[in-house]
Amino acid sequence: MTGTAHAKHFAPPEPAATGPRNLAGLGRAELEAEVRALGEPDFRARQLWHWIYHQGARDFEAMTTLSKGFRARLAANYTIDRPRAVSAQVSVDGTRKWLLRLADGQEVETVYIPEDDRGTLCVSSQVGCTLTCRFCHTGTQALVRNLSAAEIAGQIMTALDDLGDWPRTREGRRFTNLVMMGMGEPLYNYDNVAAAIRIVLDDEGLAISKRKITLSTSGVVPLIERCGEELGVGLAVSLHAVRDELRNELVPINRKYPIAELLAACRAYPGAHNARRITFEYVMLDGINDSVADARELARLLGDLPAKVNLIPFNAWPGAPYECSTPARDRGASPRSSTTPGYAAPGAGPARGQDIMAACGQLKERQPAPAQGRAGSRRRCLNAGGFDAGRTDLS
Ligand code: SF4
Repeated sequence: MTGTAHAKHFAPPEPAATGPRNLAGLGRAELEAEVRALGEPDFRARQLWHWIYHQGARDFEAMTTLSKGFRARLAANYTIDRPRAVSAQVSVDGTRKWLLRLADGQEVETVYIPEDDRGTLCVSSQVGCTLTCRFCHTGTQALVRNLSAAEIAGQIMTALDDLGDWPRTREGRRFTNLVMMGMGEPLYNYDNVAAAIRIVLDDEGLAISKRKITLSTSGVVPLIERCGEELGVGLAVSLHAVRDELRNELVPINRKYPIAELLAACRAYPGAHNARRITFEYVMLDGINDSVADARELARLLGDLPAKVNLIPFNAWPGAPYECSTPARDRGASPRSSTTPGYAAPGAGPARGQDIMAACGQLKERQPAPAQGRAGSRRRCLNAGGFDAGRTDLS
């Protein structure tokens, strides 16, 4: 199924034909159309945009630059809704995870990862996922549907409400980076993801530059170029294996778009260059994909690409079929072995938010409680024999 066919098949629910329409999630052109329908000039749409996406207003009464009459007509015809946070968990490392309920009762998760110099929101694009990557907890949940642009942008807006990160001024803001790496395959819901990202990119909107946005794909090859041309955001690719035979198992979309096709699409990705590298995500699975030979093959495959590699400790979940790679020293391999070319390994070390099941591949609707005693084994995850955590790029 192509990304477009997939998007139609699993489309989010249509807005109700009657009743107030939700303005949150509308793009500029859509907002202008609504304002015109009320007989107001276009500049009112710009004011409304500012209140919704810059000030974070949730109530038309707060929009004091609009006339009282206009505010009353807006309140009679529209709402500004976001997904409702039904739970929020805070990790010992400061990572936050929200379980958000959508209007039809479906639920998704959104994660905030604070660091010294940035604050990253990891946002979901689908309820569940069709792609059944073997190491991913989300992949064990059947795809329910795509998220609408309003639901994708709304995850961010709900998070900013909780973080107290309005208005979107440049100084002191907590949300500075966006990664589309939550539940789902973003390129299987491209149109809605793109619409939401345009709101995020807008200088008078959520105001995050394209350099601070990364879209992660498992390898929907036909849409990679379009994503680069239309959005110009950073690209991350869930690679996880260097041979088709293994990647077919770990990331089953590889059967449709094998490694050679995927890397060809990456080579052609608009805007990728040495100053703006494509991130290749590589989850460390003990005895599965972490040998010295794997490391060498990874370097060979990516040798002609502007690439960096993110080694991700495998974040176990109850019933997971894999273990995280053991530290190199446990295997008698030097972490700075001369046999290993340099790999960026920002994921080396304990993953963020593990204690609240907020780490990579752990998101899933209705989390079971984390199994007692597993955290110790996860904390073993550093890097595997053959992979060098001490260098930061492939050049
Ligand atoms: S890794 Fe991403 S694409 Fe694969 S199953 Fe999990 S959510 Fe889906």
